[in-house]
Amino acid sequence: MYLDHAATTPLRASAREAWLAAAEEVGNPSSLHAAGRRARAILEDARERIAAALGADAAEVILTSGGTEADNLAIKGLHWGRAAEDPARRDLVISAVEHHAVLDPARWLAERGDADLVELPVDPAGRIDAGALGGAVGATTSLVSVMWANNEVGTVQPVAAVVEAARAHGVPVHADAVQAVPYLDVHLHRSGLDALTVSAHKVGGPVGVGALLARRGLPLVPVAHGGGQQRSVRSGTLDAPGAAAFAAALDDAVAERDAERARLERLRARLVEGLRARVPEATVSGPADPAHRLPGIVHLVVPGARAESVLFLLDAVGIAASSGSACTAGLVQSSHVAMATGWSADDAACTVRLSLGRTSTDEDVAAVLDALPDAVARARAASGR
Ligand code: PLP
Repeated sequence: MYLDHAATTPLRASAREAWLAAAEEVGNPSSLHAAGRRARAILEDARERIAAALGADAAEVILTSGGTEADNLAIKGLHWGRAAEDPARRDLVISAVEHHAVLDPARWLAERGDADLVELPVDPAGRIDAGALGGAVGATTSLVSVMWANNEVGTVQPVAAVVEAARAHGVPVHADAVQAVPYLDVHLHRSGLDALTVSAHKVGGPVGVGALLARRGLPLVPVAHGGGQQRSVRSGTLDAPGAAAFAAALDDAVAERDAERARLERLRARLVEGLRARVPEATVSGPADPAHRLPGIVHLVVPGARAESVLFLLDAVGIAASSGSACTAGLVQSSHVAMATGWSADDAACTVRLSLGRTSTDEDVAAVLDALPDAVARARAASGR
């Protein structure tokens, strides 16, 4: 029973086929000979399809090795680029619930003295206050980066209000849309965003492929230097099979988006209802309004039931779930997202994320509802509760 789709979701048949077909070609897309031109054609076709699926122009798609690299390029590249144009712009504004792929480069920039970091607080449901954002953005801001949807709790952020607040001060806005793409209408041009991050393996493409979509003319300082590919913004031999597989998965994910969202909302409702009855000590995180959260994520805080114990016990009966927070050497750290929404460090180590996706069924929901009460009771007993 796989309830960890927010971590990664199974490879689609269309993506596998596209990858295998493209991998039959030998050429490096930058080579001038016929084999290289064939690989280049596959790559550029994929780039155009990725752009079309996400409301961008092909020239605005910078292919990367995944969401982490795209976030790093956005945060470091745009902050350095904007600060180089105007040294007064040192303030980098992010939300307190960003994925580590945004949080860590932002903190790194601050630690080395390149930026003054502002981490916007969130409400108990995990949403930033767009009004507070207005007060945090001004003539000294280099960049605002607020994720479209959160990977742990599933909260959707008010992207339009963020864009509006930043635009008044000429500040570019980046959003990590990695979790949003499968379920929300992620469209670069309609959103008003300047840049957004996407990752293939969250839509049924391969791991290790992603993109930063960045509007033309943005001051984007490269992070990886080398052969000058992708107009020197991101050097490195281009991965034609990966791009082709990403495009195929994205086409399918976008075509299925509305139906999947409705289907998962129904499954989620059943899961939440069952949890309230069977694990009453659990608090379900995130906004109640479906318009403000992803359909597939159920995030729980169960004080006293440490995440690593619950996950181990679920795994022992064949259920794959996660805590939603980073694991180091097998130990779950207190989630910075849970703490930002008001939980203590102790309680923030007692989180479980059940994430539904394309292959999820009623049987998955029934299985986890059967297994969780016992897992929680045993985990609480182990910690003396
Ligand atoms: N951003 C968010 C919100 C994510 O959920 C993830 C993956 O967990 C990433 C970034 C990193 O993407 P990748 O695994 O492609 O590096």
